[in-house]
Amino acid sequence: MALSFNTMTLTSVVIAGAGQAGYQCAASLRQEGFEGSITLVGDEPGLPYQRPPLSKAFLQGKLPATALRFRQAEFYDEKKITRVHGRITAIDRAASSLSLADGSTLGWDHLVLALGSRNRVPSVPGIDLGGVFGLRSLADAEALAPRLISGQHVVVIGAGFIGLEFAAVAAAQRLSVQVLEMADRPMARAITPAMSALFAQAHAAAGVNIRYGQGLSSILGRDGQAVGVVTADGVSLDADFVVYGIGVLPNAELAAAAGLTVSNGVQVDAQLLTSDPAISAIGDVACFTSPWADSPIRLESVQNAVDQARCVAARLMGKPAAYAALPWFWTDQGEMKLQMAGLSAGMDAQVLLGDEATRQMSVLCFRQGRLIAVESVNRAADHMASRKLLTRATRLTAEEAAAPGFDLKPYEAATREVT
Ligand code: FAD
Repeated sequence: MALSFNTMTLTSVVIAGAGQAGYQCAASLRQEGFEGSITLVGDEPGLPYQRPPLSKAFLQGKLPATALRFRQAEFYDEKKITRVHGRITAIDRAASSLSLADGSTLGWDHLVLALGSRNRVPSVPGIDLGGVFGLRSLADAEALAPRLISGQHVVVIGAGFIGLEFAAVAAAQRLSVQVLEMADRPMARAITPAMSALFAQAHAAAGVNIRYGQGLSSILGRDGQAVGVVTADGVSLDADFVVYGIGVLPNAELAAAAGLTVSNGVQVDAQLLTSDPAISAIGDVACFTSPWADSPIRLESVQNAVDQARCVAARLMGKPAAYAALPWFWTDQGEMKLQMAGLSAGMDAQVLLGDEATRQMSVLCFRQGRLIAVESVNRAADHMASRKLLTRATRLTAEEAAAPGFDLKPYEAATREVT
């Protein structure tokens, strides 16, 4: 496969966005032997850090902020990765340079857009009151954490992954937790009804009250502080504070302004190149084609950010390949660890393994006779086996999986040679 440009001429890579994907791309470029300059530009203070613990161990006070860092400062010095703190305000493709808010510019041979996504903010009266929180950054988590100690009642807007991770932490801290969810089940956009049902039960048992089919109408305030919410049905709920988690939007505006193709994120080809061959896009901001999906997708996960970063670093070092990594994801909510492999969209049959009563269950999702995804809760061995099976296009059928005594791990081991 021909390289899209000559790697011999590549002397500088600028990475826009210093989150999961941006950090990984810088680290992988060095690992691949890139000797040119690498500049990692980000608008958050401090060293690049991982987000998943923000709604889990960090909020529970189990991890200090420093433990979230991917690497300490010495790593960047040693690897000659220049970190620039600043907000990028424009991309000038003709000049191959970025503008920063302080008026400085940065030139590139190749630009990697790793600008991530930002929270969608509910557009309701009261959203700007004190005590209303999103949860995306370390700064957000640091602002929110003290409320778990001082607060008694919280209303969470949205029963998606982040809303429910937060709800589980708050319930464990003995707060009264009300969740408003527009859909009729938790995490409806991402998981199967069977798995939603298990999580609905578990949250209810932990004291989280999820109100389904309920939108938010307004947030009530007193002296500039949130004191409750009014639902779309006109029900008032008291709250010391409010947390929203209603999804994210890709940070694709700079790319659009620079004339790159943008539609649900920055569009990239099979090798994660944008419509400009000198610019790649990775992570939450990238909309890409995948052998695991019928139409272009954007994924918001650590796996996707890391694997796409590695794919681009390899391409820039003369090893081009179509991005084809199996999507996988996890979420921790109270005692429930959900791990997902593959994408279940379009499934037409399912097989449940394990035991709902003990909250150890896997949902095997089939489409036209093929296994396409596996959701496992508290069954890590199923998750690991399913990742291997999916990657090698297993011939497992729903009938075989439904047979008494079927177990994914031994099946995976036994079929390793023959599939
Ligand atoms: P980010 O990590 O968001 O990095 C983008 C960076 O670009 C940010 O630092 C941003 O400030 C910066 N930036 C944006 N615009 C500009 C600009 N104009 N100038 C300069 N810098 C800019 N995934 C999982 O797989 N499992 C989980 O359990 C999980 N839990 C999560 C919990 C939370 C609370 C959050 C917020 C996310 C979670 N995720 C989880 C998702 C995962 O963290 C993201 O998918 C991943 O961080 C995406 O990496 P990214 O580099 O694309 O974006």
